[in-house]
Amino acid sequence: MNEMQMSSIVEAVLASLPQRDCPADCPRIPVEASARHVHLTQQAVEKLFGPGAALTKKRALSQPGEFLAEQRVKLVTAAGEIGLVAVLGPVRGAVQVEISSTDACALGVNAPICLSGDLTGAADVALVGPAGVYEAPGSAIVAQAHVHMTQADARCFGVSDGDALRVRVGAARAVTFENVLARVNDRFALAMHIDFDEANACALAPGDMGQLIGQCAANNTQCILDEKLITEEKAKSLISQGKIILRKGTILTPAAKDVFTHAKIEIAFR
Ligand SMILES: [Zn+2]
Repeated sequence: MNEMQMSSIVEAVLASLPQRDCPADCPRIPVEASARHVHLTQQAVEKLFGPGAALTKKRALSQPGEFLAEQRVKLVTAAGEIGLVAVLGPVRGAVQVEISSTDACALGVNAPICLSGDLTGAADVALVGPAGVYEAPGSAIVAQAHVHMTQADARCFGVSDGDALRVRVGAARAVTFENVLARVNDRFALAMHIDFDEANACALAPGDMGQLIGQCAANNTQCILDEKLITEEKAKSLISQGKIILRKGTILTPAAKDVFTHAKIEIAFR
């Protein structure tokens, strides 16, 4: 038997096997509502809770390694404040405040809808803890709905990292969410994350599953940037966006332009 015959037999055997990891009613996704919360740096933890302070774990979250801390903070702006805000651990490299659109109204800030980790155009808030105040300019976003999944899940669903999905959630008041970003990484556990505004809109109940009903025909996500210069590296961090709105006069490097063209991202100036 030559190598070609061997590989065609292997392919035939593989094709005859049932799809591993694929439940019969694939694809259904557990849905979790994320309450408003903050991610802190170690520096912020010490400023808010005292020198040498560390986050203490109250309970583990669905994503491996992530936890809800015992500590809480208050969000404060010139227009308002929200107390008892959850702190998630472990500490990160940047402070990130994730609020709902309703919270943003209460705080009088214009927080962009962005994927976690993208703080471009994020709003300014101050955090208050028992030991002090931590100013966090450019930290507050409304997190875009997303689905964490492993590579095996992604194969099962036929989606790739960064795809914009359509997911139906709820029963009596079901809502189909558009532009739900697929986040594929083997460190993740399968879960769709929406905020409380979204959860209330579809009357989310504990244990509800979302149904993946397809992908968005066009990626309608957009991000407003305030940068003066967009480099290739910056452009690569934005490929999940469908449209990017730049300030007039922003310089795009040729490599950054190539990234946007290749990813079919629309660019507009304001
Ligand atoms: Zn998440």
